[in-house]
Amino acid sequence: MRVTVVGAGMVGVSCALALQQKGLAVTLVDRLPPGSETSHGNAGVLTPSSLIPFNNPALWQQLPALLRGKNPGFRYKLPYLVGQMAWAARFLAHSRPPHFEKTVAALDALIGLSRGIHHDWLQQAGIRHRMRDDGWIFLYRSEAAWQSGAWARDVYKKYGVTFETLEFIDLQSLEPALQPIFAKGVWFPGAGSVDDPAEVVRAYARLFADRGGVWRQSEVMGLRPSSDGGWTVLGATGPLCGGDQVVLALGPFSRAFLSQQGVMKLPMAFERGTHMHYAPGPVALRRPIYDTAGGYVLSPMSRGWRLTTGVELNALQAPTPNEPMIQAEKRAREALTMGAALDTQIWQGSRPTLPDSRPMIGACPDHPGLWLALGHQHIGFSTGPGTGELLADLMLGHTPKLDPVPFSPDRFTFVR
Ligand SMILES: Cc1cc2nc3c(=O)[nH]c(=O)nc-3n(C[C@H](O)[C@H](O)[C@H](O)COP(=O)(O)OP(=O)(O)OC[C@H]3O[C@@H](n4cnc5c(N)ncnc54)[C@H](O)[C@@H]3O)c2cc1C
Repeated sequence: MRVTVVGAGMVGVSCALALQQKGLAVTLVDRLPPGSETSHGNAGVLTPSSLIPFNNPALWQQLPALLRGKNPGFRYKLPYLVGQMAWAARFLAHSRPPHFEKTVAALDALIGLSRGIHHDWLQQAGIRHRMRDDGWIFLYRSEAAWQSGAWARDVYKKYGVTFETLEFIDLQSLEPALQPIFAKGVWFPGAGSVDDPAEVVRAYARLFADRGGVWRQSEVMGLRPSSDGGWTVLGATGPLCGGDQVVLALGPFSRAFLSQQGVMKLPMAFERGTHMHYAPGPVALRRPIYDTAGGYVLSPMSRGWRLTTGVELNALQAPTPNEPMIQAEKRAREALTMGAALDTQIWQGSRPTLPDSRPMIGACPDHPGLWLALGHQHIGFSTGPGTGELLADLMLGHTPKLDPVPFSPDRFTFVR
């Protein structure tokens, strides 16, 4: 069987590797080198704590403050939100039990499956050194803020996510760079983080090529059913390659592509985020930190400390905003001493989010031979490998290692 995977972010590269490992002849296509878009700019955190999506039961209580702009980790553009009302209503509806419980169980399984595969591939790609295994930390500036996360810690306990609550004195021994502005922290020792997300994707793509996978760099303009029952992938000047099966792993670009091709109207919104790198401060930061009041994540990377901002609900192509980074930098400088900015421009990317915060992994409805792997919101860097494994098992008719139903592309048939 010949397969073409379109999109070489973490999700597409993982699909290509997983399909190849199961003996299929795979071509991987992207308009840019592997890992150039969303999979480049993220915080590089791989953590079991990501099983709780943004649309969780606490969202209803937080909503008034979020809408009034009182949370530095959340912004929105009103015209965009108004245009996404159908998505927003479904997103909110999915924060209620039992939808939430179903999502948590599904994401927990996908995160767990991905973790082991990441470790294998990091080893096989010769980049095990890029992964730190010493966890990540949530920081709380007040006792009340820590108390408000009690419900989430109950979820972690229920799903066996290991964490330790830290008083400031313990926090400072783990991360001596931190200023005494934090009342408490929660350390997830089972989390990992990488020091260069794009390089991890590139190394996985090299592993794929070294094993005989075919790489094509070209914009994909369209898809055409071929006479033998497969698909022809079209570039700007004509057919690029073909396959019995085609996997679309276009991250936030999936929505426009699937709509232009008349395949599906994806209920996808964009949780945009930005990053900048800063010279490390005088005291090392050992692992990523999430300042819950500051609304930013600071991750030590090979290039410097990467400051990533929270969510901006806005159109995919809207101009990059400066304000989230200005605010995040201000808050981060309250938390620790860091050096000057190393970048002249702010990087911006979009977390692609479906209303139930679960990615779509599986066969595309009504389009035999077309497969979807998209919509990975905040966790596509960590869950790419599990996505590839699940998709490959489904394509080959093998028994999947996790329940595929919560990820089925069929679940949004009403917007087809
Ligand atoms: C600020 C921020 C922080 C994040 N932090 C984390 C984190 O710590 N951990 C985590 O797990 N996740 C994190 N995420 C989420 C994660 O980055 C995404 O979920 C993930 O990268 C999505 O991967 P993808 O492969 O689906 O998309 P992408 O990486 O965007 O890949 C899609 C690819 O499709 C290609 N493409 C699009 N259209 C075409 C076309 N017509 N022809 C050819 N190629 C095309 C693009 O060039 C691109 O390479 C973060 C995201 C952001 C924005």
